[in-house]
Amino acid sequence: MGSLLVDNIGLLVTADPSQGDGPLGTLTGAALVADGETVAWIGPRAAAPAADRRLDAGRGCVLPGFVDSHSHLIFGGDRSAEFAARMAGQAYTAGGIRTTVAATRAASDETLAARARSLVTEALTQGTTTIEIKSGYGLSVPDEARCLHLAGSLTRETTYLGAHIVPPEYADRPDDYVALAAGEMLDACAPYARWADVFCERGAFDADQARTILTAARDKGLGLRLHANQLGRGPGVRLAVELGAASADHCTYLSSDDVAALADSVSRDSPGTVATLLPGAEFSTRSTYPDARRLLDAGATVALATDCNPGTSFTSSMPFVIALAVREMRMTCEEAVLAATAGGATALRREDIGRLTVGARADLTVLAAPSYVHLAYRPGVPMVREVIRGGEQTPSATVGTPIADHSW
Ligand SMILES: [Zn+2]
Repeated sequence: MGSLLVDNIGLLVTADPSQGDGPLGTLTGAALVADGETVAWIGPRAAAPAADRRLDAGRGCVLPGFVDSHSHLIFGGDRSAEFAARMAGQAYTAGGIRTTVAATRAASDETLAARARSLVTEALTQGTTTIEIKSGYGLSVPDEARCLHLAGSLTRETTYLGAHIVPPEYADRPDDYVALAAGEMLDACAPYARWADVFCERGAFDADQARTILTAARDKGLGLRLHANQLGRGPGVRLAVELGAASADHCTYLSSDDVAALADSVSRDSPGTVATLLPGAEFSTRSTYPDARRLLDAGATVALATDCNPGTSFTSSMPFVIALAVREMRMTCEEAVLAATAGGATALRREDIGRLTVGARADLTVLAAPSYVHLAYRPGVPMVREVIRGGEQTPSATVGTPIADHSW
């Protein structure tokens, strides 16, 4: 693989304030050298060491590859009709997931894998170099296990979400499903999963059910995350903090106690339970956005992710999420970019990604724009010119260009 010099950078965003100016640690007149998969050198252009290859950034802004810490890419079927109906005035309920469960169960491994691969490629072309992928549309022991096995061929950040909803065949005995999800299903899935997640929401799983499943998963060595407080106030966020989960995701309806719990979980030694905001879901369901300002001002750690899924947020675009966060959630451009890079890495408890520092993975995005501000300032415009993943230039990041090797 050798070394790669990224040169002629207009503005380098390190996402590490100790390395440069402002909260994003920006540098001007800088260059970066990757040796193999790792960042080996960052410094003034004129002092850059020789490298085997050179990439001219064209005076564009260079930033860490986006870390999308929340997605549901293993699914069958299509829910565009449901979206159209919702836009025509119907409200979203968690039940729409059942449509995707039926289609996923009916789909072959090849069909599911091809769909997920194309979405991973779509995300990559928009600057996402790490993506978390959940199960949760199988909801039987063999279907959850095969979905996680497929996810594991695309990313190491795999999440067991057997407790997405209670499947129809358990509708009259939900506690039996909880026992399955905390028992035989977990046993079958744990070898393929790094994380466990539960949809803790009215209409899905209550706090006691979620605690049963998550503590069983923790005993199996899985890290914890939760879908919490998306559709209304509830116990999800405080349960996430109680269990020391890496992330509480959605955080749309929060009480003062919820906000305080997230902020108080942050300490000198720990980033606490990250509040992962998913504004693509509010956009796509025409719902109230989370109050990011309140969380940031309280001192909580905030991440942004796509929630890419066929029902409520069918976007793989982190630039779009950044634009929503700035426009609709009153995050500053700096806060949004930080939440989409270092914030996502923290939500996945990864220190090797989400920042450009010596020793980190050489995952970076070159924008066809002079500043990261353009990600929000020019919404919907293809802005990603090059994507480097593990020190390797990915084939042209032009939208729609097929990429042969999808392995992460
Ligand atoms: Zn989700």
